[in-house]
This record gives sequence, structure tokens and C-alpha cells, in this order.
Amino acid sequence: MNNQDLFLRDLSVLWHPCTQMKDHETYPIIPIKQGQGVWLDDYDGNRYLDAISSWWVNLFGHANPKINAALKDQLDSLEHVIFAGFTHAPAVELAETLVSVTPEGLGRVFYADNGSSAVEVALKMSFHYWLNEGRQRKTKFITLENSYHGETLGALAVGNVPLYKETYAPLLMDVITVSSPDCYYREAGESWADYSSRQFVHMENALKEHADSVCAVIVEPLVQCAGNMRMYDPVYLKLLRAACDKYQVHLIADEIAVGFGRTGTLFACEQADISPDFMCLSKGLTGGYLPLSAVLTTETIYRAFYDDYRKLTAFLHSHSYTGNALACRAGLTTLEIFRQHNVIEQNKKLTTFIAQSIERFTGHPHVSDVRQTGMIAAIELVKNKQTKEPYPWQERRGLKVYQYALSKGVLLRPLGNVVYFMPPYVINEEQIEFMVEVAWQGVQIATKN
Ligand SMILES: *Cc1c(COP(=O)(O)O)cnc(C)c1O
Repeated sequence: MNNQDLFLRDLSVLWHPCTQMKDHETYPIIPIKQGQGVWLDDYDGNRYLDAISSWWVNLFGHANPKINAALKDQLDSLEHVIFAGFTHAPAVELAETLVSVTPEGLGRVFYADNGSSAVEVALKMSFHYWLNEGRQRKTKFITLENSYHGETLGALAVGNVPLYKETYAPLLMDVITVSSPDCYYREAGESWADYSSRQFVHMENALKEHADSVCAVIVEPLVQCAGNMRMYDPVYLKLLRAACDKYQVHLIADEIAVGFGRTGTLFACEQADISPDFMCLSKGLTGGYLPLSAVLTTETIYRAFYDDYRKLTAFLHSHSYTGNALACRAGLTTLEIFRQHNVIEQNKKLTTFIAQSIERFTGHPHVSDVRQTGMIAAIELVKNKQTKEPYPWQERRGLKVYQYALSKGVLLRPLGNVVYFMPPYVINEEQIEFMVEVAWQGVQIATKN
């Protein structure tokens, strides 16, 4: 077997996610034979450093010995069982652990099997809670400009990235969209905290005006990842928590991408010292091994569904693979690694090292912004540094960085013209230097003329 064989067979039967398949007349799909730590190996003997954690899911490397061993053990006892009327130790232990590590007040865990499904669950639960409380008029959701919450119709509706959303607009529920706290647009010399708090007025106004008809506000705490890794200050979340309480509206924290240490704390909400009413988790939850998601919520919300069956107040939502035993075991092992290896503390050194390594980009004539929150760093390429005028998207400058980096052995996958790093936590300093150097060379090539 070689790269070309598998690529051609793939092209004749497969349809890949988030891809214009015609692009692959020009660029090959890369078949991966095996992974080890931060490295991915193809069939022709090339290696790629996985600088984006395989779409933000991998935390402790490919073929992690500890997770591998736990999964082999789990496989010999139970792979999966129906999760209605039945349970198993990995599901219970993972839920107990999640409750103990997430912010105060989140005491109930509902499993689903991917991030978008978790968002659907949170939206339905919030709406249904208010219905059970006799608040039938609450049917709407507030979301932030430039947010992303997944691709299923409900999740897409509360998202706001036009590239993914516009085509399907006729199919989507109406939402209230509020200007983002994203600090890219702050004035020269203005602090992140000042800009993000100043932007809160839009949210305050929307809540004041629509509270009677709004179930929840949904946000990605601190980093709008799919929205070009745009970042904001924790103060916004503090203000949002207080306003949601004041106007009796739920707060849904979508920590699907930012959870599990990505922002420097185990969960991003910790930096604002707040507890949401719903927290959606997925991606890093299984260390990047298996699809699983969880929605954590409060006992108050749980109790509003708890009654005699004939009252028909139950949350009648399910997915076939809800609470999959293998996935739960991977999740449990992932959280064990966090604890045993003091990962959040260890990551601080890596975070500092990444910050130093990417500093060189600040002076680049086609870089308008170099930003970082914990283990997420992004470099924004623009046509005009002074005015922040973007490159026309048709020029696909980010794609040039992608291709150059692959040819040098680094998997980067820029979002439009934003080059970012979101590496597994097992990356070392030498690998960071290599990753950033390749990105630097790629940026030179992509921004030439
Ligand atoms: C990836 C992502 C989702 C969707 O998760 P999937 O597992 O891809 O469906 C939702 N919200 C955020 C913030 C994400 O980054």
C-alpha cells in the first residue's frame, strides 16, 4: 500500500467533511498509516507534526500508552450497552469526575455522541425547562456574532459563521445575534478587558428587550475557535452571568473546543469564576480517541423535568450511542492523566514557550494580530497591516501555508487567512520551534506579492 493507491481508492468512494472535493484534482488527500505522540506517518514514509491536534480533539498524543491500555481492557469487558434502563461503571465514574472538576453547581450529566448533538441537547433542555415552568413564550436564543456551535440545524442556527450558515438559512430557526466581544476590533492602546466590557452593552440591550421570549444565551467562553480563533476577555463572561441571572435567561457555555485545558485552565469559565446553567463538552473529552459529548447542568433544571410519567415532562431525547462504554473509559482515563501529570501546571511552561516563539510574527508586514489564550495561538494575515484590510478570500493565502507546511512535515490548517497552533499537550520545546519555524516560512511564501 502507498499514498497514491489509497488516495485514488478514497476518491472513488468517499466524500470528505468541510471539503470542496474538486480541490483534490489538484491537492492529494494524505493517507495516514499510524500515529505516535505528536506525529502522523503516511504510507510513503513522511511524518507530519499534528499542530492542530487532529481538529482540536487530541490532548495527549496519538497512540497514548495509557489510553490505549485502558481501552484494550475495556474492550474485553464491555464495548457498549443501551443507556436507557442500563448503566455501567465507566459512565458513572466519568460523570462523577466531570461533576467534581467542572464549576460549582453543575451536578447532572447528560451524554450525547458529538459536539453538535450536545448543543442540540442544551438548546432543547433550556427551552423545555421554561416550558415545564409554564413560560411558553420563551422560545428564542441569543448568540454572538462570529460564533460557531456545530453543523446540525439547531447548532448551525445558533452559530454565526456565514461560510457555513448562509446556504442553509431557509432551514434555520431565527435567533437574536449580538455584536461580539472579540478583541481584534479594539482601539489602538485599548485593553482586552476594556474592549470586552464596552461590547457588553449590546448584550445587555438584547437581554433587556427580549428577556421574556429568550430561553438562553449561548457562547464559546474566551475563544471563538472556528470563527478564526478570535479571543476576548473573561470580564465579558462575568457580566453575562450577572445579566442572565437578572433577566432570568439561561447561560449555555459551549466549551466543546476550549474545555480540557485549552485556554490555560481546565475550563474557560474558571477564568471568569462563573458557573453556566449548561456546559457542553466534547472534542478533548476522550483525549481525541472516540466520539462522545456531555451536557452538564444544574439540579434545579434537572428537577423541573422530574415528575410522574403521565405528566409528560421528561426529556425524551436519545442517541443510539449515548454513554458508549469505550468512549466513557477513554474520557475517564483522559481526566486521570490531567490529575496524575498535573497537566494544567505543566502546560504553563509550554504556553510561555509558544508565546516567545511566535513573537517574531508581530513585526511581519502582513500580520495584523498575534494572539494567544493558553494553548491556542493565532496569527492573522492581512493585505494591509495598518487598516487591517483582509486578503480577498479567493486568494486562499492560508491554503498556501497549509501546503507549504505539509511539504515540510507540519500539519497546520489555517482558518481562512488565520494561521493557528493548537497542539497536543505532549509537544516539547524543540517540536514547538520546528512547528513555528515552518509556519514562519509558510507565511513568507503565502504573503509574497
Ligand atoms: C467543534 C465544535 C462544535 C461541534 O462539535 P462536533 O463534534 O464537530 O459536532 C460545537 N461547538 C464548538 C465551539 C466547536 O468548536
